[in-house]
Amino acid sequence: MTHPIILARDLHKVYRRGSSEVRAVDGISLTVMPGEFLAIMGRSGSGKTTLLDLVGCLLRPTSGELVLDGEPVSGAPDAKLAAIRAAKVGFVFQEFNLIPTLNALENVMLPLRYGPRRPNGRAEAIELIGRVGLTERAHHRPAELSGGEQQRVAIARALINRPAVILADEPTGELDSTSSAALLAMLRGLNAERGMTIIVVTHDPGVAGATDRVVRLSDGRVLSDVRRGDPGWAAALRGEPRVGAAAEGSGGARRAWARLGELLERRRVSRP
Ligand code: ADP
Ligand code: MG
Repeated sequence: MTHPIILARDLHKVYRRGSSEVRAVDGISLTVMPGEFLAIMGRSGSGKTTLLDLVGCLLRPTSGELVLDGEPVSGAPDAKLAAIRAAKVGFVFQEFNLIPTLNALENVMLPLRYGPRRPNGRAEAIELIGRVGLTERAHHRPAELSGGEQQRVAIARALINRPAVILADEPTGELDSTSSAALLAMLRGLNAERGMTIIVVTHDPGVAGATDRVVRLSDGRVLSDVRRGDPGWAAALRGEPRVGAAAEGSGGARRAWARLGELLERRRVSRP
């Protein structure tokens, strides 16, 4: 029986800033099955990174329940949380986050230090470097690599511990369009050929359009959750309001009528 890779129920993350609080994630429930390729979209500040970091065990939820590949995360002590993260999650960040003093191969091998012992780790890292097309660059440091190459190193690094899920936070955000396309093709290949479960946060409709499911966030909540082939798919990519909301509005006319009615009503009431 297949179980979800991610099972999140009513997740909340509240940040306190002095006396005010920010509900960065405000009651999100999400189920992701093995082999899904999913995009998370939404305006800046809508909670995308916070959600990804919660799912990836980089952050603890304020409340709610999270099960990652069958492992209950919510109540786990810190050491357990770190172990789950090392074993289950491969992260790819917008800023690559490679170690500048290590070469490409050493960067790819880095997570091996935190996972279970792997005698063939180096050979596997070399193979992964090859798979992302960087065999010739294996001994170059990040500063000697292009942005696209650095991000491919980051992908290989994310794969080395054979994670249950790849979490990528705006991975093409710092890349030119050619490198973006190459990276996207790589993610698609990982998903289609190896069944890798991938969640990618993106602003780019081109990236989201290559996935199979788009979850749109607003103010820390799920605004819409649409799959390829659903009627709202194209609208979800464009970032239009929820299908239901768009349909009932049918242009601005109805809203304008409602507003006019309100104004007339108010004037009537306030007349002496
Ligand atoms: P996104 O990735 O969609 O741009 P974030 O998840 O980074 O959104 O942020 C969601 C909200 O939480 C924002 O209002 C942001 O300012 C706030 N936030 C994020 N991280 C912190 C933090 N460490 N401390 C306080 N507020 C934070
Ligand atoms: Mg973000």
